[in-house]
Amino acid sequence: MEIYLDANATTPVLFQAAQAARQVMAEDFGNPSSVHSTGLKARAMLDQVRARARRLLDTGAGHLLFVSGATEGIQTAVLSALNELRARRAAGDDSARWLLYGATEHKAVPEALKHWSQLLGLDLPLLAIPVNRQGLHDLDFLREHAPQAGIVCTMAANNETGVISDLAGIEAVLQQTGSQAMWLVDSVQALGKLELHLSRSRIDYAPFSGHKLYAPKGVGLLYVREGAPFTPLLAGGGQEGSLRSGTENMAGIAALGAVLAAFEDGSTFRDEQTLRSYQARLAAALEAAFPGLIFNAEPTLSLPTTLNFAVPGLSSRLLQDLFDAAESRVSGGSACSAAKAQPSYVLQAMGLPEWQAAGAVRMSFGPVVDEAFISEACARIAACGLSLRRNCLSPVGNDPTIGDGITRFTQDGACCYLLADSASQRCLLIDPLPEMVDALAQALQCQGYPLLAVLGSSPEHQQARALLAQALGDLMPTAACDASGWPLHHETLALGASQLSRQPLDEGPLLLSVAGQPQLAFTGGLDRMALEHLPPDLLLAPGSDEEQQFATTRAVCHALPVLALEGAKLQAFVDAHPDALLVDVREPYEQFLSLTPKLNGVALQAMPLSRLLNALPTWLVEQRPLLFFCRSGNRSRQAAMALARLGHSQAWTLVGGLALLPSAPAEQFQPDPALYV
Ligand code: PLP
Repeated sequence: MEIYLDANATTPVLFQAAQAARQVMAEDFGNPSSVHSTGLKARAMLDQVRARARRLLDTGAGHLLFVSGATEGIQTAVLSALNELRARRAAGDDSARWLLYGATEHKAVPEALKHWSQLLGLDLPLLAIPVNRQGLHDLDFLREHAPQAGIVCTMAANNETGVISDLAGIEAVLQQTGSQAMWLVDSVQALGKLELHLSRSRIDYAPFSGHKLYAPKGVGLLYVREGAPFTPLLAGGGQEGSLRSGTENMAGIAALGAVLAAFEDGSTFRDEQTLRSYQARLAAALEAAFPGLIFNAEPTLSLPTTLNFAVPGLSSRLLQDLFDAAESRVSGGSACSAAKAQPSYVLQAMGLPEWQAAGAVRMSFGPVVDEAFISEACARIAACGLSLRRNCLSPVGNDPTIGDGITRFTQDGACCYLLADSASQRCLLIDPLPEMVDALAQALQCQGYPLLAVLGSSPEHQQARALLAQALGDLMPTAACDASGWPLHHETLALGASQLSRQPLDEGPLLLSVAGQPQLAFTGGLDRMALEHLPPDLLLAPGSDEEQQFATTRAVCHALPVLALEGAKLQAFVDAHPDALLVDVREPYEQFLSLTPKLNGVALQAMPLSRLLNALPTWLVEQRPLLFFCRSGNRSRQAAMALARLGHSQAWTLVGGLALLPSAPAEQFQPDPALYV
């Protein structure tokens, strides 16, 4: 079962909301502008939903328009305010010098300000109102700048951190300074979670989005204070009293109405105290699972449904993959920026250290979740912590690990290789970099094997060697070595059945042989000339691999095509290729948590991308069909491309990964303990 913890991005549609939408689409499908009975029925529904929304938001005499969502509401509000500023300017009032917006606003706000200011020829500078470490607006800055502001935009609650703004404090400053600025309060994340009394405030515009509260995407609301300037964004048939033309999204409005009805009757939505207790349970589960975890915003100052945190030493991406493997959906920063691994501008604006801003994870739930959901979420969090400890990624309390073969560590394209042998309990490192030392030291300590050598001749490698010596103590090699870390008086270094040698001595590539047969050469920063003496088909593991090739050869090989398999055809593929090997290329911390499709009689192998080099020699000789899979299809495509480039004719990737597999009943998914523990 999926545990969906990304409600600030969007929510599922409430059952009764989907039913209401279906009813409108299939039966009560009238156009509310029609004067016949079908139209009148539609109009009655529309009026009823609006009346309910007005009651809940306490809009008084203000307007409440149905729009397509918050982005449209924001455009309309900004256009209205800026068009008013243009009119004031034309009438000789030049008092507006700038446009103010909170530094942590959703991008829709500053982008709309920029866009409309330019289009209307206002070209007023945008000034960001700074926030403090808690994410709260700097009221002194506001006091200084409000008198000459044309508009002030301050969200009710932040989508990334959940931080609740001090709207009363902001309003007081606007009153005290006599500011003529129009006030836009993006209220998207407040709906259903914070009490709003719009008619009692000075707020001019407040946009809302249905899909953040169990209605479908494509419906929203815009509150406009009575008397606030207004310019329609959409002109046309005169719907919504000519304030917003276009036939109304009746299915969306019906669904939103059903959500608001459920909210009003109080039986479906949890009260604030209950939500706070859920938030506290999740926070406690996170702190127990991830020692050292830091909340990026104080939970008690945030929406009761949001937690934003970072864990020292763990990237946001790793944590998201970990949770995803446990069928728990969280996000890094906001959904819009989650695809890019960039630090959150919201957390940067709060002055948080770079690692916290770049490593942020947001966990958010909707106000209709129940006890059972929270208990399951806490159990998944605990399982994620256990997976990290099992796989030596927890900041503390890791279990010992067994090391065998080659593990690749990468940092910004640079590659370092850890070679280990479990039988002799020995290992060695090739080309470590200073930035990798913490992760390497942790992995080596969990493994506990003494290092035979730490190889690498560049100044960075030498610096890493010195840092590792400090971090590792007893596990560091003690024998005298040359400048590249190679132990003096040794021609080869033995690791169980494998030997490492240098060819030629001193400056050559590092050749890994098994039982005297060359398997692979580690080529570091060497150019092609320095490799000419190697057999043309020998696999070459590079010192940097921006393109994720994993290995190349000297022989010019005609890359074969990667074969793509749709998830729906998985069983048919297995039936047609009884000799196929299905390869899970996700990392061990993901594999430990997750279930894989159980298919009749097919061979399955766990081979994380970081350990792919171990399998390449055998797979290239065997040429059996290989179907790689991962979570999203990215890593499996990389693995299949690496094999195809090296001349494998049957390298398949599962398009879209496990995420797109048709969902199957839980019993069809089974972890294979032998494979994954
Ligand atoms: N404002 C905030 C605070 C939001 O969280 C979002 C959505 O992420 C928006 C505005 C934009 O809403 P929509 O994409 O529904 O138009």
